[in-house]
Amino acid sequence: MAEKGKLIVISGPSGVGKSTVINGVMREYPNLHFSVSATTRPIRPGETDGVNYFFVSRERFDEMLANGELLEHVEYVSNCYGTPEAPLQASLDAGEDILLDIEPVGALNVRRKRPDATLIFLAPPSLRSLRERLVGRGDTAPELIEDRLARARWELEQAEKYDYIVINDEVTNAVGEILSILRGEPNAEHCRAALRSAILKEET
Ligand code: ADP
Ligand code: 5GP
Repeated sequence: MAEKGKLIVISGPSGVGKSTVINGVMREYPNLHFSVSATTRPIRPGETDGVNYFFVSRERFDEMLANGELLEHVEYVSNCYGTPEAPLQASLDAGEDILLDIEPVGALNVRRKRPDATLIFLAPPSLRSLRERLVGRGDTAPELIEDRLARARWELEQAEKYDYIVINDEVTNAVGEILSILRGEPNAEHCRAALRSAILKEET
């Protein structure tokens, strides 16, 4: 029987660079598969249904929830997001590593249900740089940016509950650190949340 795959969770505030860094990681680590979440939020320019998310109605989302199809779910800034469990389990059973890009409430729920999961928090170098990236991405309305920053402050406080913290100063550094965590390399130990959470508090 194939060895089971690893379940990797990456969280971090909206705009910190998760999609950018995840794309970089997936290019270098072919056995990694992305878990496509369901969401009720509107599709953004450049996104594809079934690739970035399954964009569903609120009724369909509630049906998935009632049928027990979601490993975890959350309501985040007025929209619902959830992780479909069946495709994730199929990947793990086939020996594929699977990556979830989910916010901290969901991440900590995954940890409760799947204690073997590896939790990585992607942090911005500062709150100011986070605001600049959110504005620079150009797809979030100004009033939503304030909502997302308020949420980010709370999310950063959750980082110490993760296994690892990676600071996304330069994309290539962040990608490199995540690859060393996935490959179990000794220098991944520098990213342990127990070591880095103090630095994060000083810098943000
Ligand atoms: P998220 O998926 O976390 O919401 P994105 O990957 O969409 O974030 O990145 C938000 C914006 O920040 C994008 O415009 C992206 O190009 C930019 N960005 C990502 N990483 C960095 C970085 N290390 N330095 C500067 N800008 C970055
Ligand atoms: P965005 O709308 O910017 O794509 O995502 C908003 C937030 O929702 C991000 O922090 C992202 O990680 C999180 N998210 C995406 N999918 C899921 C999911 O299935 N579950 C949870 N808990 N969070 C998710």
